[in-house]
Amino acid sequence: MKAWEKNIRTIKHPYVAGYQPKDYSVTKLNANENPYPPAPGVVKAMEEFETSSLRLYPALNADELIDEIAHFKQVKPSQVFVGVGSDDVIGMCFLTYFNSGKPILFPDITYSFYDVWADLYRIPYECPKLDEKFHIKKEDYYKDNGGIIFANPNAPTSIAVGLDFIRDVLEHNQDVIVIVDEAYIDFGGESAVSLLEEYDNLVVVQTFSKSRSLAGLRVGYCIASEELIQALNTVKFSYNSYTMNMLAIKLGAESVKDTEYFYQTIDKIIATRTWSKEQLEQLGFTCMDSSTNFLFATHKSMAAKEIFEKLQERKIYVRHFDKERIDNYLRITIGTDQQMEQLVNALKEILPDEKNING
Ligand SMILES: *Cc1c(COP(=O)(O)O)cnc(C)c1O
Repeated sequence: MKAWEKNIRTIKHPYVAGYQPKDYSVTKLNANENPYPPAPGVVKAMEEFETSSLRLYPALNADELIDEIAHFKQVKPSQVFVGVGSDDVIGMCFLTYFNSGKPILFPDITYSFYDVWADLYRIPYECPKLDEKFHIKKEDYYKDNGGIIFANPNAPTSIAVGLDFIRDVLEHNQDVIVIVDEAYIDFGGESAVSLLEEYDNLVVVQTFSKSRSLAGLRVGYCIASEELIQALNTVKFSYNSYTMNMLAIKLGAESVKDTEYFYQTIDKIIATRTWSKEQLEQLGFTCMDSSTNFLFATHKSMAAKEIFEKLQERKIYVRHFDKERIDNYLRITIGTDQQMEQLVNALKEILPDEKNING
């Protein structure tokens, strides 16, 4: 071992993203991306973008984007912080808010990046177990802690909690920062943004990656009290002043302006989700009650891993987690109607014929 090796920051388990095939012809239902294109205004702004302006640095405060988000969410611009996807925003929140030395809390089954950031920043953490139906138990969050983060709706379970739940957690945790990761809130569930007036220790994180069809642009944001946003900005300006590039600012702002397209796209996905859930249940799957753009499903007779592999042979990609408690589940992103029909047809080929089984 070289002398300097021991001084390198090593992370044993970095985050593993869903497989990104180079072949665009595959049916990609493994990363909760939106199957529809971004809003027409985004496409137009991209076409009209003045390439020569790229010689300049982007706007330091990303005002154009922040103002649109603030207007849409009916909060002050000084309550909004934007980043390179919500991953950047949440990572920045961990660095800024979780410095007490006490363990932070998040569920055992949740977005698998939380423990990675905690490891990266040397933040101790504890992971209370979801109950046997994969619901978060609020009593687990009543104990002394260094901060709390949970996803609502949760991933990969797809299950949402109500505002009464979040309010209860906040009431029991007034001395720490509570982050609610609302990556999927636009597909169902009630946003905690309405609680911000009452709780100055609440941070609500959202993203353009799922409901706004802009995963590739990398735009995410959080809304919180001015004081908390100020703290985040101080940390950000001590690390990388220009996180938001010109295109992310411009196209992100255009996306927010087009509310009609936004709600239309969400409605289509919810309708397809309802249809897909019925189809999967007829095929012998049990699906959690989804408030997201994906279904979390387990089959009564065939192992999830086997289904996953057989779908992959047919160029249909879904997500399987080799993790205790959820290794017999598949996380299936809601695609277009056509993609979901393709999935259902493939499953009909793959799954054992019930009549044969029963003799
Ligand atoms: C997708 C996702 C994110 C991060 O998305 P970005 O593309 O970085 O905005 C954060 N949290 C959860 C629960 C997610 O599913």
